[in-house]
Amino acid sequence: MKPLAEKIWFNGELKAWEDTKVHVMTHALHYGTSVFEGVRAYDTPKGPAVFRLTEHTQRLLDSARIYHMPVPYTLQQINDACKETLRVNGLKSAYLRPIAFLGECGMGVTPKPENVRVDVAIAAFPWGAYLGDEGLTKGVDVIVSSWNRAAPNTIPVMAKAGGNYLSSYLIGREARSKGYVEGLGLGVDGRLSEGAGENLFLMMGGKIYTPPVSASILGGITRNTVLTLAREEGIEIIEQDLPREMLYLADEVFMTGTAAEITPIRTIDDIPTRENGPGPITKLLQARFHGLFNGQTEDKWGWLDYVN
Ligand code: PMP
Repeated sequence: MKPLAEKIWFNGELKAWEDTKVHVMTHALHYGTSVFEGVRAYDTPKGPAVFRLTEHTQRLLDSARIYHMPVPYTLQQINDACKETLRVNGLKSAYLRPIAFLGECGMGVTPKPENVRVDVAIAAFPWGAYLGDEGLTKGVDVIVSSWNRAAPNTIPVMAKAGGNYLSSYLIGREARSKGYVEGLGLGVDGRLSEGAGENLFLMMGGKIYTPPVSASILGGITRNTVLTLAREEGIEIIEQDLPREMLYLADEVFMTGTAAEITPIRTIDDIPTRENGPGPITKLLQARFHGLFNGQTEDKWGWLDYVN
């Protein structure tokens, strides 16, 4: 892979991008035993800042906790390492990818506790709009996938673990192979869940509807940000199980994620939303969200963690 930045933080050291390698017998490569984060840093008027870094690092440690994975660094050490990785690469705005994984632990699926070895890496590199610049303004075309999200008590979806992304891979690949930008997964009960890498929001009659965490979704940090900003605007929020057909009746639909930010949806299964793309609520929330990074939205919550 062509280097996307100069250095990667790996187990406490900054190494050249091209030299940061693991062995083919790495446990995570065989069994999906990694936990990771996607974090964004923005170049704000007060200098580069990581958005909600502590919440992301806490989710990384929580994902590791679910998998009994002893991460050999504290939250503070990982936060500091994220900022150091940005600084050393001279990045002002970037996508960060912290990952902790079972390394060389032997060939068995369940290594003896004394053989468990957790490696930690942090990469940072420039990354634009995940679903395309045009998507952010006009909206994207999506389909409901033929694949459901993981059933409760199978693979824990509250953990952001490498293995979960086999589901995202199938959902995203199916959509893209048919010419759509992204795929949405339903829960095993056929109700709305989330996109391959994004949470889902529907606007109807001036209210916001979104599936609850019990609907096999990742508790997205952007989801929480959007809910907080919407509450500030006095918009009513309804978190409840939602039937698939609400997608076809909504005024506006959008997806949220660190990579996707707030991406409006234009059509679902070839049916246009009533607004045929971003409507007034989507545009308002996009403006408030991006306002956090250009200084137009006051950061009342201390979400911006300045790098310098
Ligand atoms: N759901 C899934 C499956 C994801 O991969 C992501 C991206 N991390 C999200 C939701 C959105 O989460 P966040 O806003 O924390 O990036």
